[in-house]
Amino acid sequence: MTEIEREAMEVDVVIVGAGPAGLSAAIRLKQIDADLNVVLLEKGSEVGAHILSGAVLDPVGLDALIPDWKDKGAPVTTKVTADEFLMLSKTGGWRIPNWPMPPLMSNHGKYIASMGQLTRWLAEQAEALGVEVYPGMSCSQLVYREDGSVKGVVAGEFGKLADGTPGPAYEPGMELHGKYVLIAEGVRGSLAKCVTSRFELCKGRDLPKFGIGMKEIWDIDPARHEEGKVTHLMGWPLGNNAHGGGFIYHAENNQLFLGLVVHLNYKNPHLYPYMEFQRMKHHPKVAALLEGGKRVGYGARAISAGGWQSMPRSIFPGGALLGDSVGLVNYARIKGNHNAMLSGIAAADAAAAAIKAGRAGDLLEAYEAELRSGAVAKDLKPVRNVKPLTTRFGAKLGLMLSGFDMWTNSLFGLSLFGTMKHGTSDAAATGHARDYPKIDYPKPDGKLSFDRLTNVSFSATNHEESQPNHLHLKDPDIPIQLNLPEYDEPAQRYCPAGVYEVVEGADGPKFQINFQNCVHCKTCDIKDPSQNITWTVPQGGDGPNYGNM
Ligand SMILES: Cc1cc2nc3c(=O)[nH]c(=O)nc-3n(C[C@H](O)[C@H](O)[C@H](O)COP(=O)(O)OP(=O)(O)OC[C@H]3O[C@@H](n4cnc5c(N)ncnc54)[C@H](O)[C@@H]3O)c2cc1C
Repeated sequence: MTEIEREAMEVDVVIVGAGPAGLSAAIRLKQIDADLNVVLLEKGSEVGAHILSGAVLDPVGLDALIPDWKDKGAPVTTKVTADEFLMLSKTGGWRIPNWPMPPLMSNHGKYIASMGQLTRWLAEQAEALGVEVYPGMSCSQLVYREDGSVKGVVAGEFGKLADGTPGPAYEPGMELHGKYVLIAEGVRGSLAKCVTSRFELCKGRDLPKFGIGMKEIWDIDPARHEEGKVTHLMGWPLGNNAHGGGFIYHAENNQLFLGLVVHLNYKNPHLYPYMEFQRMKHHPKVAALLEGGKRVGYGARAISAGGWQSMPRSIFPGGALLGDSVGLVNYARIKGNHNAMLSGIAAADAAAAAIKAGRAGDLLEAYEAELRSGAVAKDLKPVRNVKPLTTRFGAKLGLMLSGFDMWTNSLFGLSLFGTMKHGTSDAAATGHARDYPKIDYPKPDGKLSFDRLTNVSFSATNHEESQPNHLHLKDPDIPIQLNLPEYDEPAQRYCPAGVYEVVEGADGPKFQINFQNCVHCKTCDIKDPSQNITWTVPQGGDGPNYGNM
């Protein structure tokens, strides 16, 4: 095979991914030294296009990065005014009082924000400081120095044909070389997976864990809207079938941000996370808010849930992993944006100091030390047993034990449980179809609930059809020969965008991949029981365009 020749550009720091982590790193680097050359590459057609979050934002990261963000007009204005937890039964439910919850669970002082809007605003701040921000640029490969350290990335390769060969409009992209490469791809990043495996970053750490989060934005009747109200839902519809829960955030402009997170360690392969979300909206307490309203946006994204014990080593020769690429979501608080920002700041501090000292391509030990002992550690450590406790003891008892554990951790810095392990991977947790009952989901009514493909059209997802399928099967026979008989091929259900179908052909069932629908949530890469699907990055500018998610 002939080597593709590419132009190379030398900069000080290359950053992959314009989420809160990557943007914070870029801004901090230029705040420290305006002369540093910093390039930020983003696969979405614009910054914010692929950003999906709840979001209740803990402003600690923003405070640390841009202390006068309010004066500068950051789009973070809706303060949380009410905070409630509801345990739902099928038709009713009750409020769990706030008083037994440890203070870390309180949303007082937090904001309801669109992270799409906030990342666009952060990109403006970054550009004003001189960061070169390039949206529409997928980073598809890593480039290494002769000593094996990471030297840069290949970005902006366009125009391959479906068989992977260069087409008439082929552009090879370019290599961006940096003294350090910061990988801020969010959860289950494709380059992050490469460095994690090459440098054995997970060695000695617990398994990573994940959920799939689905979200809709609704314009609702102003009479039903209570700006600033935050509601978290537990119990129905997931019940004992899966862990997770719903959220309803009353944002500005009479909008609701509403969603469901389903933890991917569920066993019943017949479970259909998307349909669980749709039926959640028919619960009387939810339907009462939505009736007469209009769904205006839809999206889905995996969310990391492994926490403290699952964090891989965050550094490798020549760079570091940031934000959700290290899995910095606080499971109990369902928040990761603040830690993403704090990790970006810490990585930038370490990289700027190393460059000032004349270093390049080595280990940013100061960053790893800060993550394991600084503000992020203080946030994640006290909640480290919440996920294993709920997995082991179920929602109700697990919740009580978790509350007790968070209190002892918060008050005395210790846990009676030590640091618990997560057990099996999410893929391996999937049980055999014959051992679990099928679940009968009601048909969407087109008013409160919608079929998957109609909803995907509300994510503005688009992929150039002539490019290669970016969802690779290690063995093309596994879906039909193994996954279908053993697990009723769960890809048909766990994908929130209807990418995977089993269709009847003349020669029997056939596995079809509609990669054009992919919303880049990466659930397939995580949950396939045979670990046969690898999510790779498609060409830049493709995928969803989430607007104000
Ligand atoms: C449904 C849901 C609800 C949530 N609710 C909340 C909440 O209420 N509060 C909260 O604080 N957190 C919440 N989170 C978690 C929060 O969204 C994440 O912790 C946060 O987004 C992590 O930021 P990040 O910068 O690490 O990654 P991301 O925000 O995922 O950003 C990564 C960026 O990198 C880009 N990228 C990835 N790979 C490449 C590549 N190879 N080349 C170029 N670009 C690339 C992506 O397009 C994306 O723009 C929620 C998450 C979900 C899914």
